[in-house]
Amino acid sequence: MSDKRSQFPLPLSSVTGKGDTRAPAPQPKVATPQTATQNAAQHANRQPLPKAVFQAPPVHNTGYNDNTPRRAPPAPSGVPPRAHALVSDAVRQAMVQRVAQQGVKDALVLQAMGTVPRHLFVEPGLSAQAYVDASLPIGHHQTISQPYIVARMIEVMRNGAQLQRVLEIGTGCGYQAAVLACVAQEVYSIERIKPLHELAKANLRPLRIPNLRLHYGDGMLGLPQAAPFDGIILAAAGLEVPPALLEQLSIGGRLVAPVGAKTQHLQLVVRTGKAEWTSEVMEAVHFVPLRPGTV
Ligand code: SAH
Repeated sequence: MSDKRSQFPLPLSSVTGKGDTRAPAPQPKVATPQTATQNAAQHANRQPLPKAVFQAPPVHNTGYNDNTPRRAPPAPSGVPPRAHALVSDAVRQAMVQRVAQQGVKDALVLQAMGTVPRHLFVEPGLSAQAYVDASLPIGHHQTISQPYIVARMIEVMRNGAQLQRVLEIGTGCGYQAAVLACVAQEVYSIERIKPLHELAKANLRPLRIPNLRLHYGDGMLGLPQAAPFDGIILAAAGLEVPPALLEQLSIGGRLVAPVGAKTQHLQLVVRTGKAEWTSEVMEAVHFVPLRPGTV
């Protein structure tokens, strides 16, 4: 699926909690824009540039297959890696501007979106489209979420507060988890499809994000050993919010989830007491389905 693992034989301990029965002790440090940008710059020459990003055609979630080769073509010779990083930085800032124009106001979220190198989370063949405001295929019939939606959900969950512990259901390629790690002290993310869990680990390894833990499992059950969470985000749509997740919210905690079948809406659930939750239906969205069990 990817040759990234052999290129980055870095310790996995920073991005995986695999095999743990208890979540590892949290690291105090939150990823900084500088760290991620530096790491991205170091590794930017592995992937083709998002050079034609503004000319890229609109992307739809159809017409892809899982056989797309994931091996990056060799970097063009004579182009310094730093130049690649600068180009991707410029197109990323343009993406952030578009996200802000669509109504996201939270400066911390916008800063995080401007920090995480989204092109490292998509297949090399799609990296020219990495900063277009669209979801893109990541294999296994799943998608990396549209940048605006990623930012909007985090903004709604955060509500301007300092987040201590956050849970994401549906790691996918790991992009939203990396963004979350810029705005919360500790982030846990669960994925039910083993190869995607592995892909996320490989994608995240070069970024060395110390406050992010990836878990392979059924996110509908949450992560009781790390609960309670003051924020929970679901990146896949169920017919209802799984009850276990409601129970794992701290009092005052906020959960944001796409809910529905054919028509889906973002739902914000706030835990207001031990046995009290309020719920608010927000904008229409389109997500892949939330499914039980693991594969
Ligand atoms: N967070 C990703 C989006 C991934 S798409 C991003 O950054 O763009 C949604 C993901 O949810 C898929 O990978 C899918 O496999 C996963 N998923 C669906 N049901 C799940 C469940 N019960 N537990 C964990 N992951 C689940």
